[in-house]
Order: sequence, then C-alpha cells, then structure tokens
Amino acid sequence: MKKLVIRGIGQILTGKLEQPLADGDCLVAIDGRITAWGAEKDLDCEGATTLVDAKGVTLAPGLIDSHVHPVVGDYTPRQQQLHWIDSTLHGGVTTLISAGEVHMPGRPKDIVGLKAMAIASQRWYENFRPSGVKVHAGAPVIEHGMVEQDFQELAAAGVKLLGEVGLGTVKDGKTARQMVEWARKYGIQSTIHTGGPSIPGSGLIDADMVIETGTDVIGHINGGHSALPDDQIICLCESCKAAFEIVHNGNERAAVLALNTARELGKLDQVILGTDGPAGSGVQPLGILRMIAMLSAFGNVPAELAFCFGTGNTARQRKLDVGLIEVGYSADFVLLDQAQHSGGKTMLDSVRLGNLPGVAMTIIDGVVTSGRSRNTPPAQRLPEQIL
Ligand SMILES: [Zn+2]
Repeated sequence: MKKLVIRGIGQILTGKLEQPLADGDCLVAIDGRITAWGAEKDLDCEGATTLVDAKGVTLAPGLIDSHVHPVVGDYTPRQQQLHWIDSTLHGGVTTLISAGEVHMPGRPKDIVGLKAMAIASQRWYENFRPSGVKVHAGAPVIEHGMVEQDFQELAAAGVKLLGEVGLGTVKDGKTARQMVEWARKYGIQSTIHTGGPSIPGSGLIDADMVIETGTDVIGHINGGHSALPDDQIICLCESCKAAFEIVHNGNERAAVLALNTARELGKLDQVILGTDGPAGSGVQPLGILRMIAMLSAFGNVPAELAFCFGTGNTARQRKLDVGLIEVGYSADFVLLDQAQHSGGKTMLDSVRLGNLPGVAMTIIDGVVTSGRSRNTPPAQRLPEQIL
C-alpha cells in the first residue's frame, strides 16, 4: 500500500464552484486516490510512504488544460520544441486533453489512416506519460465520408475524444452534427473550432455552425486566435448547454466577455480553460495559470473560483476523475504560494491582482512529480518532501 500524507497545508482549494475552499491542514491519499482531508489531529496519518510538509502553502487539484495539440511524447513539431509538456507541468498542469493531433507532419486524412493515427495516439500517451503528466489523446478530426461504423470502431478501440470539428474537410453544420451525434452515441466527446481561421488554410466557424453542430465543448469560445463578434459569443452563451472553453491562445477581451455573460446567465459551471498550446503563437506552459489570473483580475471573479475553471469545472464537463478534492479522485495536486515580491496579502489576493502564483510542487497519482517550478515566479515558501 502506498500512502501519501501532506501535512502543514495553509489552505485547500477544492475545485468546486459551490464550495471552493475547504477547511484543513492535512490530506491523505492511498494508492493514488484521495481518502481524507481535514485537521491533521483527526486523520489517520500513520504509515505514510510519502510524507510532504506543505509549510503553509495552498493545495489545489492539479490544473487541467482542456485544449492542447500533442503529437508524440514530449516533442512538438509546431515550434520544433522538446519538453513542452514538462514545462507545462511546471505551470501546475497535471492533465492535458487533446483537441486533435493536427500538428503531426503528414497527418493522414483518409479514413482508415485517420482512425489508425487516433488509435495509435491514444495508445502512445496511455503507455507513456511525459514527466508523469496525464495526456488524453487520440482525437481524430472528422472528414467527409466517415460513417457510423467508423465511430463505433474508434470507440471500441478506446478513442474517447474528437479533435476540433472544422479542422478537417467537414465544414457544414449538417454533416458535422450527424458525425458528432454518432460520436456521442458511442461515448466519444466532441469539440469544435470556434471563430476565425487559426492559420492559413483553416476556416471560419460562426455561432450558427457551432449551434447546429452541437458539440459537447465549444472549443475556444474566445477564438483561437480570432474571436467571433461579441453578439455571437453572447448568443452561444445564451443558447448552449455545452462547455464554454476559454483559451490562452484566443482574444482576451472576448474571454472576459464570455465569462461575464456566463456569470450573468448563472452558467459559471460551464466555463473551462485551455491553452491551445503548443500553438505557433508560442508554446504556453503557464497558459492555464495566466488565464486564472487574467479572468480573476479582469472578470471580477474571486481567485478561488477562477481556479475551479481550470480544475473541477473541466473535470465535471469532461467526466474525469481528477480536478476535485473528493474521496476516490486521483491524488493529483499542485502546491502553490504567493510569488515573491508580488502585491496582495495572500496567494489568492495576489492572483486577484493579476499576478501568477509560484508553483512549489506537483503530485500525480500520489507521487511527487516536480518541486519548485523553473517557470513560475518563485513561491514565498517551499514544501518539503520528508519521506
Ligand atoms: Zn482551433
């Protein structure tokens, strides 16, 4: 039995919008699953195989990036970069979700080829976690000619995601809707490229097409890069039950508009975060933390709620067993503290003022995966691994 005990926690962020902060200075996980948290004196901390003294810093669920484009291992051909996933871990992200492995050079677009690549991608990330990070990949981009049986076969082979609708040849709402419904029938989640073309060769997807297609996630509702006009973003927030995915690679003003509209509609539970990394606009290892700070600062949201957008909201929308402090959930955490010499009285106050927090440690499945981040500003205090 592997037992993780984290004691000396300053505060616990739960990932739950309805109760973003939990009482307690200690958390226990057994065999990679959360079993208890609260006051150390009330918990069974005997027999720890991994013991961390948090030294008063904040414990949050590991962050989730709802929108990445991985290719293979920890390499991306998009900017010829190695170790972008390791850098992302140093930004507090412990789970990545593929929106399509579209940066693969020579990506097959024939149906048997695209299915083969999706299945292979799902496998190679299931079999290999770069720096311990969980990568949900194998997200085929739909192309004309696919039939129901293709989605049945993909699902049976372990594919659980579609890549962004619109990045392939299917550009009309009617065909896209049919394929998304087939995907859903077999338990495959869908997303769509929302907004203007991202690079030469990609196309516009407007609100009408997003609504007609009916994907589970409105991929980059704030554009990736170019956002739809304001009235279309508001219309999407009003009409859709899908997740509103806000990405770092999009338009930041449109991000705040989407957030404000979601709040007015009582739909903050639908707001989730992604980066669209590693895009050609720059690999974005701190993108999720930057979105949390930006949305908290400009979107009038307490920082503890903004953290939910990048943790529990995404977990709930994506039906993942991470992102929440909950019994039975994965023991995936980021330990954070206020950045040295940043404004504000506390870590959360500092984030509310637009500052990044310092990542001090990450833990995945109850195993310490990184210490002081090499990418964030330095945390004021540092947890210590005692065992
Ligand atoms: Zn896109």
